[in-house]
Amino acid sequence: MDYDNEIELVLSSNPKNEAVARVSVSSFIMELNPSMSELTDVRTAVSEAVTNSIIHGYENKKGRIYIKCAIKDRTVYISVEDRGVGIKDVEKAMLPLYTSKPELERSGMGFTVMQTFMDSLEVISEENKGTKVFMEKSISKEVLNETLI
Ligand code: ATP
Ligand code: MG
Repeated sequence: MDYDNEIELVLSSNPKNEAVARVSVSSFIMELNPSMSELTDVRTAVSEAVTNSIIHGYENKKGRIYIKCAIKDRTVYISVEDRGVGIKDVEKAMLPLYTSKPELERSGMGFTVMQTFMDSLEVISEENKGTKVFMEKSISKEVLNETLI
């Protein structure tokens, strides 16, 4: 697609970079003047995807996380990719409350959060190859949003 604007980020799987990803994507979409809740939705979804790559994809070992973020009209397209362990059964992994790491007190709600906060979510994964998460969200036309109040 011929996007209006795009960025690509490559981050090491250091937990510190979850905040870097969140802030970078937030600042990238600021040109659309998102409402406070739209901004929170996008940053939360990005944060969940990046956290999954760090904790599950790379199991806290060193690896790289590839983020692409693009804008076309008023829609934001985001992909978060890792070359980690991958997911055996994506359908099962996406079920609310499913977690493969209950011992780490994960709640199994990451994918559900991404699905709820974004307009669409697609997960492509292959065992021992990695995982790619695609998300889209259309940002409403600014009338008078909470950021201005
Ligand atoms: P929470 O996000 O609530 O802390 P969680 O991470 O276990 O818990 P989800 O984010 O919904 O829950 O992910 C569900 C499961 O999918 C994970 O437990 C893990 O098994 C698998 N998974 C998710 N992302 C990845 C990834 N990038 N690489 C490998 N496995 C993943
Ligand atoms: Mg998660």
